[in-house]
Amino acid sequence: MPAILTTLGEAARAGIEIKAICRKPECRYSQKINLAEVVQHVGGIQPLVPVKWQKHFSERMRCPACKTLGMYIWVDLPSEGHPLYPLTSSAFRVLEWSQTGRSIDRELALVHTLPVAQAAYRAARELYHTSHITLQQGARVISDSWEDQKAP
Ligand SMILES: [Zn+2]
Repeated sequence: MPAILTTLGEAARAGIEIKAICRKPECRYSQKINLAEVVQHVGGIQPLVPVKWQKHFSERMRCPACKTLGMYIWVDLPSEGHPLYPLTSSAFRVLEWSQTGRSIDRELALVHTLPVAQAAYRAARELYHTSHITLQQGARVISDSWEDQKAP
């Protein structure tokens, strides 16, 4: 098993459970994804998390409950074997803020590992370059696109 899972095929082989969670904060419907089925449809080399210039399969998923298009991918801990993620760590989130900086417009990613979260953050910055994007763990801000812009 690779140390870091990057593709759907690797996740499927590792027996990882993946959930799709509705993007709508009021809904947050979640369902287990049948990885084998998704791999059959989109291919095993499809990345687990969205990357720049690529239409991610999660964007084509529609919430069965509220019909909102696009779902978040949540990677669950494997049920047996070596845990891939520290059990005690809380999730990293990539957030898009309103222009006033006081409220969260959207949660763009919700992941367990920092490298994946950082990749998602970079992708979010590229995609939404006019937006205020932060990468954080709880209230702790790890990266902030407005702060990054001020840096030389
Ligand atoms: Zn929904």
